[in-house]
Amino acid sequence: MALAAAAERVAAEFEYPKEDVNRGVKEFIRQMNEGLAKQGTTMSQIPTYVTAVPNGTENGLYMAVDLGGTNFRVCSIQLHGNSTFSLTQSKVAIPKQLMVAKTSRELFSFLAKQIELFLKTHHEDHYVSHVERRASSAGGFREEDIFSLGFTFSFPVQQYGINKGTLIRWTKGFDIQDTVGKDVCALLQKEIDALHLPVRVAALVNDTVGTLMARSYTSPGKAGTLLGAIFGTGTNGAYVEKLEKMSKLKGMAGEVDGSTGEMIVNTEWGSFDNQLSVLPNTPYDNDLDKESVNPGIQMFEKRISGMFLGEILRRALVSLVKDPSVPLFSDEHSNQNDVHSTTNIQQDSPLFKQWGIDTSFLSISSGDNSAGLKVTRQTLDNEYGISAASAEDAEAVRLIASAVGKRAARLSAVAIAAVVIATGKLGDNTATEVTDENVVDIGVDGSLVEFYPNFEEYIREALRDVPEIGPLGEKRIRIGIAKDGSGVGAALIALVADKAMKAGPRSDVNAGGFAGFINGIIDHLNRGVRMRV
Ligand code: ADP
Ligand code: MG
Repeated sequence: MALAAAAERVAAEFEYPKEDVNRGVKEFIRQMNEGLAKQGTTMSQIPTYVTAVPNGTENGLYMAVDLGGTNFRVCSIQLHGNSTFSLTQSKVAIPKQLMVAKTSRELFSFLAKQIELFLKTHHEDHYVSHVERRASSAGGFREEDIFSLGFTFSFPVQQYGINKGTLIRWTKGFDIQDTVGKDVCALLQKEIDALHLPVRVAALVNDTVGTLMARSYTSPGKAGTLLGAIFGTGTNGAYVEKLEKMSKLKGMAGEVDGSTGEMIVNTEWGSFDNQLSVLPNTPYDNDLDKESVNPGIQMFEKRISGMFLGEILRRALVSLVKDPSVPLFSDEHSNQNDVHSTTNIQQDSPLFKQWGIDTSFLSISSGDNSAGLKVTRQTLDNEYGISAASAEDAEAVRLIASAVGKRAARLSAVAIAAVVIATGKLGDNTATEVTDENVVDIGVDGSLVEFYPNFEEYIREALRDVPEIGPLGEKRIRIGIAKDGSGVGAALIALVADKAMKAGPRSDVNAGGFAGFINGIIDHLNRGVRMRV
């Protein structure tokens, strides 16, 4: 078969037409509602119990760490009295072997070491004085010298308190059995204490919630943000829900401040439709899942996010390479009938290894507009052990990479559309003007949405395909990147937790509940952001 035709055939397997988008949205809303009503459903719809308010006059240094699926970020936010703050950040890739370590300790001691390194590098004075004081005859340390830290933990957690939560399951390729069911804050605190660091884990924050917070303050206009969504290593979203719809809360432990009638819900939508009742399924999706560490779960995520798209592309390309009638990456100067002598692929090429292709390659290939797709061909040569790829080869790769990326964006739109429709945020979708009052604001974060070419435009196309949204509704949905928002969000929640702790349980820091909490933070940040460095 000619190469172009074969590539088109594979690309067509990833088409996700309008009718399927709409079927997906209906089922998504059904699974959202089911998750609000009872426990143990495919979509967890985890209540976050967000409550306290900052008063805007805080002083001091707060820390935040973010364990994503790929990177570990450490940051500190210095609050200069009541008007400004500065932010310092460092980032390190999480070593692969730690993701599947035998014990939690291996991973969490690595995280604590990164915090130590960060303190030594960026807060040396503070660190040294603390260690000296501990070593001195006076001993001990002063409470005010302890950093409060917000822990952004981007995995499903059952949260029991502002700094207490047990891991429900690992996702995104992590698999450390002895962590499941344990309090991840306690695990981190133990390793921090082992290094004698002046740090208290004050708050546990999901990255989606952090993104929602951070976006709420940067988004222009008065309307609050509806949804914080992640499209990075994994995918997930947190949104503002009405308490009256959260019927399962009645049967759950934990105190609910009902003053605003709303609560942020962490959907854990990565596991939407694990039963595959509406999700598209190709042989490549199927094999990827079967050979993953968590077969049968996170099925939505496995079709959308950074951890998986490269692998889907790899499997699709391998299927073509293995087909003797398709001349992909073949050496035109050798005998076309002998499979072994016709390939330009080195034997140890990552093309033949599970997870061998990174999703950043999809961005390179889909967005390549160099003459003869030179950039793609060079990347194939330099990083994937495929020499002398022809322009036709690169074109075939681009066709399939774009199809995989576009399907991911259209599936992302299913989640976004469902949240917008289920919350009734759009109201009547015939308004022709977009105003500060009728805009529906969404904050997003993650390398995929940030770097994959036209990801947002593909999302928008699919949103227009949903009649309850349509072209007019789509225009009223504002999507903005909350870059590293999870770090900023976590530091601010640590601040609030810290205040709540110092004020004691009978204080009035909870007054105003969730909206007060958000508004307090927004207010605080609005004043801080002008001088942000
Ligand atoms: P985390 O999920 O750890 O918070 P990121 O948001 O940076 O981190 O997402 C990392 C994921 O994004 C990885 O799976 C990686 O393959 C993917 N990725 C990195 N760079 C790009 C890019 N340029 N285009 C698309 N995906 C990318
Ligand atoms: Mg992240």
